[in-house]
Amino acid sequence: MTVKIVVQKFGGTSVNTRELREKAALKVQETQKEGFSPVVVVSAMGRKGAPYATDTLISLAREEFSNLDPRDLDLLLSCGEIISAVVMSQTLRRMGMKSVAFSGAQAGIITDNHFGDASILRVEPDRIKKYLDKGYVVVVAGFQGATEEGEITTLGRGGSDTTAVVLGIYLQADYVDIFTDVNGVFTADPRIVPEAQILQGLTYTEAAEMIQQGAKVIHHKAMNLAREYRIPLRVRSLSDEGKGTLICDISTLTKEGLRILSQEEPVYSIAYRRGLAQVRVNLGDSENGELKIFQSLAQEGISIDLVSLFPEGTAFVVDETVGSKVEEILRREGFEVNLTLPCAKVSLVGSDMADRPGVVAQLVEALKDANIEILQTGDSHITISCLVKSQDMERAIQVLHHKFRLEKAC
Ligand code: ADP
Ligand code: MG
Repeated sequence: MTVKIVVQKFGGTSVNTRELREKAALKVQETQKEGFSPVVVVSAMGRKGAPYATDTLISLAREEFSNLDPRDLDLLLSCGEIISAVVMSQTLRRMGMKSVAFSGAQAGIITDNHFGDASILRVEPDRIKKYLDKGYVVVVAGFQGATEEGEITTLGRGGSDTTAVVLGIYLQADYVDIFTDVNGVFTADPRIVPEAQILQGLTYTEAAEMIQQGAKVIHHKAMNLAREYRIPLRVRSLSDEGKGTLICDISTLTKEGLRILSQEEPVYSIAYRRGLAQVRVNLGDSENGELKIFQSLAQEGISIDLVSLFPEGTAFVVDETVGSKVEEILRREGFEVNLTLPCAKVSLVGSDMADRPGVVAQLVEALKDANIEILQTGDSHITISCLVKSQDMERAIQVLHHKFRLEKAC
């Protein structure tokens, strides 16, 4: 008999209180009743300030031991998810299910030795499978694994999403469920646009593009793996009886009635990325100035985005945290540099933008009417992005959402 598996990942805000954990356990039970073997992946309980949240453990390390080595830091950070796994597993047992909790290492997750941001090399799933065969719900601590030598590693921000998708790949799961604090993937972050609409079905390409442009509802590494291995994802919440968002192939979406061929709108969502700095450099009469600029930034390992080149200068965007370092490097090279921060990139994500005249005009009009300065723009065939000052970001998202009538989308 082949077992049908669903991996269900519960984010930090879905396992934070006893009441929520019991709700999560009911979702697991429902899945079992539907004939699936559930594998549960949990994040550490709660966000910053909660006693066992990842950020709390980081503060503990930083405040007392400013030089904690990366190996020990990972060992410390891995505890948040282990606590959560044990607590979740006990909750399942209290509700009458058979359950076992595993650390990432016990679950057979093997990573490289890049402490703090390790990559999963492979999974040895036999131990998980043995328990599934005996009817257990296996609860795995997200965000972690171990090297071949048995050193504990963590996977970086959003790592539990990656744990869930990778287990989905190795266990050949029918679905990976991502339970979070919103009911699915929306036309824009519902915290910023209350009238945002849930997107019931997205192709891997569409979801990956939104996430690439900053929609943090799933971590980009996890999204890219799901896309590559064709693992269907369902983004859901504990408080909603709806189906959430299904991310899969277009053929499945069509079969499920979630896609009609003529439905394509030029823009289906708005994503954003905060914490950016705009760098404008005057090239003066420097020979090959632009080349020198990009080479020296590459040498320092600094990634750049939204690059615009003109005969007299260049403008581009970097992470806010490296803004002053970039300024220093370029001044040292003799360039005149202007830094604007904090900035945010707001992106319209859609399809075939290049074939749709007027999208840029609408964007400029909406922001102008709202008195929002556009610092820079950039585009691809499926996105148009603009850079604005951070203080204008939320309003920019709101007016663009309205301008493209996304509150009427479905
Ligand atoms: P978790 O702790 O469950 O992993 P995250 O905070 O990583 O949750 O991701 C969920 C958050 O993603 C939501 O609270 C929401 O603010 C944000 N988000 C950003 N863009 C979107 C979007 N387009 N649709 C839904 N949520 C979004
Ligand atoms: Mg997350």
